Amino acid sequence: GKITIAIDGFSSTGKSTLAKQLAKKLEYIYVDTGAMYRAVTLFAMRNGIVENPGALVKLLPEIHLKFIYNKDAGYAEMYLNGENIEADIRTLEVSKFVSKIAEIGEVRQKLVEMQREMGREKGIVMDGRDIGTVVFPDAELKIFMTASPDARAARRYKELLDRGENVSYNEVLKNVRERDHIDSNRTFSPLKKANDAIAFDNTDMGLQEQFERMYNYALR
Ligand code: C5P
Repeated sequence: GKITIAIDGFSSTGKSTLAKQLAKKLEYIYVDTGAMYRAVTLFAMRNGIVENPGALVKLLPEIHLKFIYNKDAGYAEMYLNGENIEADIRTLEVSKFVSKIAEIGEVRQKLVEMQREMGREKGIVMDGRDIGTVVFPDAELKIFMTASPDARAARRYKELLDRGENVSYNEVLKNVRERDHIDSNRTFSPLKKANDAIAFDNTDMGLQEQFERMYNYALR
């Protein structure tokens, strides 16, 4: 039967690439929870309240998030109040603020509730930071992904360059380290490996090998 798959880990470990592939192969639904935190961050940036948690919490009811499947892309894209913001949430600018926004308890509460609703039926692959620990503690398969900071920064740097962003490698490395630190040390749902999660270090592993291993875990 179908199961719930939780993929957590540090920034830029390649969680979403693998989760997407896995969902496609298993014919499961894929949910990128990082996109949801990024969407709330974009909303805060646009409203000039990125440093004002109180104001953001008040406006939370006005934030309507939706994933809409894009057939050509082969995955669901993030919509904020009816607008496709998929490209806008992937910038380094958003990455710089997102971990501060993700520390806010009320933001987490709202998003976790949505995530549980999306995963009410099995047959889902969800990636994030707290999926195996908080969102779906009973998930049948939990993976915790790690890789060296250098390997992760190099991947993220390449991604941003491919998108045409003008960034430096050091700036990206600094952001990856900062987010890891904030995500691991926050009060609500800090990033940590669930006791029953499989530790998966992919520093020196190609995509094909990663995918095959994951797929085997899912079939067991
Ligand atoms: O996965 P991604 O790098 O897009 O996530 C962006 C940020 O959103 C993370 O650095 C983290 O601060 C936050 N996040 C979170 N909980 C999740 C997913 C993302 O706190 N489940």
